[in-house]
Amino acid sequence: MADERLTGFGVFSTMGEPPRVGFLAGDEILDLAAAGLGRDFAEPSLNPLLARGRGAWEDALGRALELLERGQGPRVPLPEATLHLPFQVADYVDFFSSLEHATNAGRIFRPDQEPLLPNWRWLPVGYHGRAGTVVVSGTDVVRPRGQRRPPGADAPEYAPSRRLDFELELGFVVGVPSRLGEPVPPEAFADHVFGVVLVNDWSARDLQAWESAPLGPFLGKSFQTSISAWVTPLALLEEARVEARPQEPPPLPHLAGGRDWALDVALEVELNGTVVSRGNARTLYWTMPQQLAHATSNGASLRTGDLMASGTISGAERGSEGSLLELTWNGAEPLLLADGSERSFLEDGDEVVLRGRAGAVELGEVRGRVLPSR
Ligand code: CA
Repeated sequence: MADERLTGFGVFSTMGEPPRVGFLAGDEILDLAAAGLGRDFAEPSLNPLLARGRGAWEDALGRALELLERGQGPRVPLPEATLHLPFQVADYVDFFSSLEHATNAGRIFRPDQEPLLPNWRWLPVGYHGRAGTVVVSGTDVVRPRGQRRPPGADAPEYAPSRRLDFELELGFVVGVPSRLGEPVPPEAFADHVFGVVLVNDWSARDLQAWESAPLGPFLGKSFQTSISAWVTPLALLEEARVEARPQEPPPLPHLAGGRDWALDVALEVELNGTVVSRGNARTLYWTMPQQLAHATSNGASLRTGDLMASGTISGAERGSEGSLLELTWNGAEPLLLADGSERSFLEDGDEVVLRGRAGAVELGEVRGRVLPSR
């Protein structure tokens, strides 16, 4: 198994058999329920395992890796499995933690002002999204309808979005809850968080631009968010952990920890078979422990299954941006795809795939195709 890719835990089913927990390695799923790992693995979601905490997570990973090492345990070829949403999403939070993305978005949407607003370097800006529309990779996305104001028009119209976009993000999954009223410090990150998934925060830029003032993202984001079918446990990412980039000014004391949790994970976005973006999660300004600490700094409690996403991950170089908004500079510089067609924003039928890789660890891909509006 020396060269075998390791991905993580998910929920799958096969013909005539109920959903259960497996571990994806290479192109095969190790069937952990059939391997006799216990009742938590015969469940249709990872939630029971998530709730058990770090000792149980390490035990589960250890046993899965041991079975793989020995070539034991029942396997299911990936193409024969149906993949399910791996956990019941409790709350969904989306941050805005990439300095380059926040700067690009500021330049595009507020060209006459300082691109970063005054709070940005003091806290990881975020909003609460819609947990009920988080779906598993492979789920099509229906082009949303909504209010958009065409350029130069006085009044908005209710119509299909013409500026549908993807956002490449890294999300973390909470396992162990916290108590209401008690902030979770950055240092407690690995006691509460089970692992990570790639996230595509589908975004309708025209709806977003019209509706967002002054309260922020709503229907331009909530129609659908896609995540990997596989959650990669933090313990598999130890070798990818690096020190985060410097922060200036230094954060306030309650957000100062967790700087050793940047992840050197190479990322890419493929659009209709053409790789249109290559970046790395280590460029994020705010780390996952800082995001978690900020989200609970007012005493808001965590629940098993909470999903918190980084925000679009964009690097400093052209071609490393995690959204079409930035890659095409709001449509001004369309991308050329391998089939000769150009894209400013997504068209019906387009397929987007997000991928992430850190050495032998390959995050679960996030795949989705755009369907016409209904
Ligand atoms: Ca986002």
